[in-house]
Amino acid sequence: MSYEFLSQLGLDSVVSNGQYASVYSADTATAGTAAGFEVTSPNTGEVIARFKDASSEQLESVTQTAVSAFEEFKSLPAPLRGELVRRIGNLAREHKEALAAVITLESGKIVQEALGEVQEWIDVCDFAVGLSRQLHGLSIVSERPGHRMMEQWLPLGPVAVISAFNFPMAVWSWNAMLGFVCGDPIVWKPSEKSPLAALACQSIVNMALETMPEIPRGISQVVVGGRELGQAICEDKRYPLVSATGSTAMGRKVAATVGARLGRSLLELGGNNAMIVSPTADLDLAQRAIVFSAVGTCGQRCTSLRRVIAHESIVEDLTARLLKSYPSLRIGHPAEQGTLVGPLIDEGSFKQMQASIEAAKAQGGEVLYGGDRFTDSVPEGGFYVRPAIVRIAHDAPIVHEETFAPILYILTYNTLEEAIAINNEVPQGLSSAIFTESMREAETFVSAVGSDCGIANVNIGTSGAEIGGAFGGEKDTGGGRESGSDAWRNYMRRTTNTINYGGALPLAQGIVFE
Ligand code: NAD
Repeated sequence: MSYEFLSQLGLDSVVSNGQYASVYSADTATAGTAAGFEVTSPNTGEVIARFKDASSEQLESVTQTAVSAFEEFKSLPAPLRGELVRRIGNLAREHKEALAAVITLESGKIVQEALGEVQEWIDVCDFAVGLSRQLHGLSIVSERPGHRMMEQWLPLGPVAVISAFNFPMAVWSWNAMLGFVCGDPIVWKPSEKSPLAALACQSIVNMALETMPEIPRGISQVVVGGRELGQAICEDKRYPLVSATGSTAMGRKVAATVGARLGRSLLELGGNNAMIVSPTADLDLAQRAIVFSAVGTCGQRCTSLRRVIAHESIVEDLTARLLKSYPSLRIGHPAEQGTLVGPLIDEGSFKQMQASIEAAKAQGGEVLYGGDRFTDSVPEGGFYVRPAIVRIAHDAPIVHEETFAPILYILTYNTLEEAIAINNEVPQGLSSAIFTESMREAETFVSAVGSDCGIANVNIGTSGAEIGGAFGGEKDTGGGRESGSDAWRNYMRRTTNTINYGGALPLAQGIVFE
């Protein structure tokens, strides 16, 4: 396979026509001399790059660079920082296909989904550019005569971004594009399974920075390495904010480490997303939404649909429809046209899927379709699977766990209250949906007595969020919100100012101190 798109992104020093270099080094991306690791393409199992984890000395140098870049960056006008993001967005547009090809190569996403991920980055650039002229605070009345109070949002400091393999560009872009307009340098530790995507993004930022010498180059850096490197970043109080995306197990460690030094963490963790299908639902719509949400990205989205909660009166019909759709899904190499389901990320993920299916069977579940390895006309080294449909009780323990693979559990309910209770009974709280034509059911689902998730949709699937809204979830999903709405506030510090423009010094609460 030839990898010309990597040359276009300035990555031929890492990978060139199938060859790999063992060390990548540039002033903005660092690989060191400590333990090494290989990056394999999930599509074929071939090694596409070899890296060494950044050493502690290299991390120290990256952190110092970020700290000094902050000193300059925070005093630049926000619209100027927005101009940088505008240029980054334009370059991402220009290199969209090449960037998507890196995602397909390294994370195994089908081409359309990879292009969609780059589009998310482009969209968040547009959002952030507008935001760079709107980082607004409040003006508040004072109880003291001749005084005014106001609230300002100011740059926070170097922000560390730790990301997962399955959205190797979008998650960073949500954080970094907002962080840049807010005046924060970004240090990014991507997943050890997807460092090439990070280096490709860094190349785009470098191209934009070259056109704006007034912006310090150290505002964007990548450090490559595994969890030890991530842990070292979390311990360092020079990062006032650590934004971490990944499993709930990782989030618990990050929260404890960052919390111990009273830093802030923004956590985007695992989901266990459900869709209620009511007796009034448009089943054609529901069927399409279920298939896309459950098998898209081979079930490796944090918002992937994992549980269908179908009313007893329609569950047979709905299941029959799904059993008709699933066999027609084209499984194959994600770069091939027509493929809808690409591979799992690696063998570990395949084994996890098998273990969950075995657990489901042991807990009374019945596998209605798939779950096995798919080997017809796909590269031998990739772990391709037939997405699974499993009928099981809602309270089987395995149903309450997130298995990061395409397993769809079919559960049943009788009353709406019961369905909502099932939706909410898992530890995670990311995404949820109801398919219904009843206004009462829809409104109940999105109300205070409805879904307890960060995302609650009506007549639309659980995955595929738009960047305009705040993204994230409750409970074991970590409580963080990224991307749209007012998520930008995470990347700034709030200061409350009281200004005395009168000639006296009155105290608050009527206190007289003489
Ligand atoms: P993972 O938890 O294995 O790794 C994620 C990142 O955390 C990697 O960069 C890893 O090196 C780092 N890491 C691991 N342990 C760490 C530690 N102790 N300290 C600091 N860093 C550490 O996750 P993954 O397998 O790459 O991704 C899949 C998981 O991510 C799923 O659970 C999925 O739901 C979740 N996810 C959530 C969202 C969201 O927005 N809620 C988005 C994408 C993925």
